[in-house]
Amino acid sequence: MKRRFLILFAIGAALLLFAGCGVAEVPEATDTPEPTGTPFAVEIAQVTLPPTATPAPTDTPEPTPSPTPTPKPLEGKIIGIDPGHQRKGNHDTEPQSPDSPIMKAKCSSGTRALGGAHEYEVNLEVALRLRALLEELGATVIMTRESHAVDISNIERALIFNAAGTDYALRLHCNGVDNTSRAGAFMLVPQTNPFLEDCQRAARLLIDAFCAKTGANNLGIVARDDQTGFNWCERMIINIEMGHMTNPEEGKLLSDLAYWDLMAVGLCEGILAYFEGAGL
Ligand SMILES: [Zn+2]
Repeated sequence: MKRRFLILFAIGAALLLFAGCGVAEVPEATDTPEPTGTPFAVEIAQVTLPPTATPAPTDTPEPTPSPTPTPKPLEGKIIGIDPGHQRKGNHDTEPQSPDSPIMKAKCSSGTRALGGAHEYEVNLEVALRLRALLEELGATVIMTRESHAVDISNIERALIFNAAGTDYALRLHCNGVDNTSRAGAFMLVPQTNPFLEDCQRAARLLIDAFCAKTGANNLGIVARDDQTGFNWCERMIINIEMGHMTNPEEGKLLSDLAYWDLMAVGLCEGILAYFEGAGL
């Protein structure tokens, strides 16, 4: 019995020793959670990041101001440009107006600067520059021609504007006269037109803006009843004679690329003034 007790005691002591070892290691074990604690915190931080992404929905109010882009000033306006003449004139004839017995050439040849550009070239060069400027301002531009190798009569040019329902139609020309000292720009307007007052206001604004920009003499406005391009047109329409190619100085200017740019800017300003309601 005593021996048995001794054995039990020995086992108990041994257990206590092991247990002692075990207890001694406990502080070491409590140290280890510390390093694992930091990655765990990072994980938590990462998990909590997505909720902070919710401020993005609060950014959605920002897109709402974007639907208010300021509309371009000529948005929705249809503007017709007729660069007068073409490389080869067409001398077949057509009625000057729907109810007139008078017949006129379908498309005359136009004038030319002495030693410089042809009128049909200047008219198209300015027209193409003007189109670019007007389109930048939001306008829809209808051109009667975009090259010299065309055969379009004056009636056909007017009908293009009628079909397109243009809000503003402009015929671009340069003048040629025997008196070589005559220089300057002027307007032609129809004598009869459903929008006669608009034609007159547009002509005033255009010649003023054109001459202010280019420095050309302002020779005013002339009403004409003999222009096929006017008489067949049922839309508001005007014609500018941008200068005299028969004047040596002005003929040189009208053949100059930088002056084409300048003329286009002047015309664009005059058209813009019309749509802004100037002169009403
Ligand atoms: Zn002409």
